[in-house]
Amino acid sequence: MDFEKLNIITPILKAICEEGYTTPTLIQQQAIPVILEGRDLLGCAQTGTGKTAAFAIPLLQTLYKERTNLKGQRIVKGLILTPTRELAIQIGESLEAYGRYTGIKHAVIFGGVSQVPQVNKLRSGVDIIVATPGRLLDLMNQKYINVSCLKMLILDEADRMLDMGFSFDVKKIISRLTDTRQTLLFSATMPKEITKMVDAILKNPVKVEVTPVSSTVDTIEQNVYFVEQKDKKSLLIKLLKNRAIESVLVFTRTKHGADKIAKDLAKLSITAQAIHGDKSQVARQIALNNFKLKRTRVLVATDIAARGIDIQELSHIINFDLPNVPETYVHRIGRTGRAGMVGTALSFCDREEMGYLRAIQKLISKKIPVVEEQPYSMRFA
Ligand code: AMP
Repeated sequence: MDFEKLNIITPILKAICEEGYTTPTLIQQQAIPVILEGRDLLGCAQTGTGKTAAFAIPLLQTLYKERTNLKGQRIVKGLILTPTRELAIQIGESLEAYGRYTGIKHAVIFGGVSQVPQVNKLRSGVDIIVATPGRLLDLMNQKYINVSCLKMLILDEADRMLDMGFSFDVKKIISRLTDTRQTLLFSATMPKEITKMVDAILKNPVKVEVTPVSSTVDTIEQNVYFVEQKDKKSLLIKLLKNRAIESVLVFTRTKHGADKIAKDLAKLSITAQAIHGDKSQVARQIALNNFKLKRTRVLVATDIAARGIDIQELSHIINFDLPNVPETYVHRIGRTGRAGMVGTALSFCDREEMGYLRAIQKLISKKIPVVEEQPYSMRFA
């Protein structure tokens, strides 16, 4: 199977070829024809499956075919809602890459920064908006955005948007869109609230599923270390002595915890930076870039900040704390093992987290192997 068979137009084919994509991923093979037919779609897919291109390519193609009608002023015809700024930026970069020969323009809208450059971009005329819900609604209320002609709405990482409390904003935004639009909803997990949302906003959707709900990517090797909370830092340092761990994303539950680990590692000359919601957008981008460029070996992140980060060749993630929501585990480990690569996910589990571990194992229907041979093994009474 190659991209030509999916009837993709030449300007986009040329661009994806330059990206080095030769074969469409499974989600792309299944979703692209359905979207090009104009059907609503429910995509159940994890990060790393190529889902961004699965919606970005047909969106660009649909709008490209209509561009002849766009005499003069551009009108917003595509809207992508996504939970975090980082993810919004990455989707923007994908649109830029795949759409570079289409002449289609987009704006990326997110909060926490001045709205002025975003408003200027919108005023210059765009075909697609990629946005986090809060800022989008804000700019819609200020009448900077007109969505009355919207053709396609895409909800990316819908489960996470609801987790992050965007439910109200998302509903409000949708209530202002035309009923004739095409809607695509992507989610890695399908909790009840998502099923309800699907029933409310999708019309007779085609369901595309590349892996069973909440199953973890097979190429990821997973292990758990039973360790007391107080020994977790020493265990992390011990693991980082292994130079084979060239770069690693470490997850913590709290912002304070992320900062502390980054600081403690830096004291030991292990290059590390933290990203979390209290850091400015600029600081987060700098930390992310340093990590991508391998200037820092360890990126310590909270879930919200790390959501959707696309770092190619990420070989290891470490759960310094286990998440209390089992689906979060699936999201976290999906940062590694991308596009078929082998990845390793290591989790530290203390006494208090045993229940979380059980919930995770139940969700993924898999027992995570325990590393017995380690210096900080927790004693069970
Ligand atoms: P995503 O699931 O959208 O986060 O994509 C995961 C990674 O796979 C990104 O780094 C993409 O650039 C890459 N990717 C997407 N589609 C393809 C493809 N057809 N061939 C190779 N790599 C791809």
